[in-house]
Amino acid sequence: MTAATAGIHHITAFVRDPQKTADFYAGVLGLRLIKKTINFDAPEVYHLYFGNELGSPGTIITFFPWPESRKGRIGGGQVGVTTYVAPAGTFDFWKERLAKLNVEATETSRFGESYLSFEDPDGLKLEIVARAEGPASKWSFGGVPADKAIKGFGGAILYSTAAAKTAELLTKVMGLTKAAQEGGYVRFRSTADLGNVIDVNVSDMEPGHGGAGTVHHIAWRAKDDEEHALWRSHVADSGFQPTPIVDRQYFKAIYFREEGGILFEIATDPPGFARDEEPDKLGEKLMLPEWFEQHRGQIEQLLTPFEVRVLEEDKG
Ligand code: ZN
Repeated sequence: MTAATAGIHHITAFVRDPQKTADFYAGVLGLRLIKKTINFDAPEVYHLYFGNELGSPGTIITFFPWPESRKGRIGGGQVGVTTYVAPAGTFDFWKERLAKLNVEATETSRFGESYLSFEDPDGLKLEIVARAEGPASKWSFGGVPADKAIKGFGGAILYSTAAAKTAELLTKVMGLTKAAQEGGYVRFRSTADLGNVIDVNVSDMEPGHGGAGTVHHIAWRAKDDEEHALWRSHVADSGFQPTPIVDRQYFKAIYFREEGGILFEIATDPPGFARDEEPDKLGEKLMLPEWFEQHRGQIEQLLTPFEVRVLEEDKG
């Protein structure tokens, strides 16, 4: 199989508080909560998905908010930084917006591009870059009009404990193309126009540890079920140990850990988030897979209610 992923499908991270998470990703960043469900492996924990208006692949960040979790440490074996891409010409809008909302941001640069670097309430490292490529989001919320809205992921910075191995995997197994090397990072590109720019550290990093404020895994796109099955064989033939195919309701998934310590997933584009809710109602109701529906009452009691709300600063 000559395999090449289109790019990032989603990124999943650990946080603590669902309300703070909604206030940040919807309130501050203007993303849409496109699915409110539970962790299928731990039904007492939410699984929240934020993305563009439909939760298109390449725009989806997902969270397991676990109020009692200890704080993690960002380091090797993780996605170190999650990069969002905003429309060209909106860098100053975002800089002013973060300042107004007291989100401390610094300006950095890599590969000739300017980035706003900041953290979410749990310390997850994020950045915004403005680029022309990628379809515009159609979602507007609070203080973020659609023409300034984050389009999705620009990409990510991977922190590898075995940088050369991770770089080799990205090109030889995942089908990315090496684009450049500069200032301690190698840059790779995939074929999509969102979630398509992956930077990897050149020197091996000390391992971090998981917990609130760290990324749990990064998922890459497979076009459909047929290609997904081929990906599984391809990953196994390349010497990795993929899990069996798991049904995640909104996509199918396999997982494997790469040699730099990062947990990779490969997820199918279909069926997507409109499989159980109308596109204009996405994220409004707690959605449970059939096998949990009979326990809905019990599950709802275990979950702390929260709402997607416009920030006070954006009102009036
Ligand atoms: Zn995932």
